[in-house]
Amino acid sequence: MGRFLTPDAYIESIYSISPEGLKKHGIKGLILDIDNTLVPTYTKDADIKVKAFLDDMKKSGIKTAIVSNARQDRVEQFCRHLDVEYFYKALKPFKKGYLKAVESMGLRPCEAAIAGDQLFTDILGGNLVGMKTLLIKPIDFNEPFPVRIKRLLEKPFLRGKQYLDKF
Ligand SMILES: [Mg+2]
Repeated sequence: MGRFLTPDAYIESIYSISPEGLKKHGIKGLILDIDNTLVPTYTKDADIKVKAFLDDMKKSGIKTAIVSNARQDRVEQFCRHLDVEYFYKALKPFKKGYLKAVESMGLRPCEAAIAGDQLFTDILGGNLVGMKTLLIKPIDFNEPFPVRIKRLLEKPFLRGKQYLDKF
């Protein structure tokens, strides 16, 4: 179980990730979580930084997709000005959402990475499908109750970890 809860990298922020860094690790496609990975949980819209990040990836030849466990309306609103494929109610850590996303990118799971802030959803599922897993430090801790419980459970796995500010 421990190995499925271990990401390939611990990363300070999504903005620590560069297309060159991904390519160096053989990653051609990046799947992104929304809540507390791209924006704080209660932020409804993507900001200009998120858009620039996705545009930069695209320009550099990295495919992107959004895979979120959130509801359709939340994900649709967030993505409405972004040029990105998205999958809502993905039921991470179950495999289906990840597999649909890699398929949409025309890649195999081993050519893709998931970047997300939760060990028991984003990282566990990514490891189960055999993609690279990048754990992003949560943007803030203003989160719904069930997520707070999961944060407590994550704690022992995260103790003493160093987060990279460049990947
Ligand atoms: Mg999240």
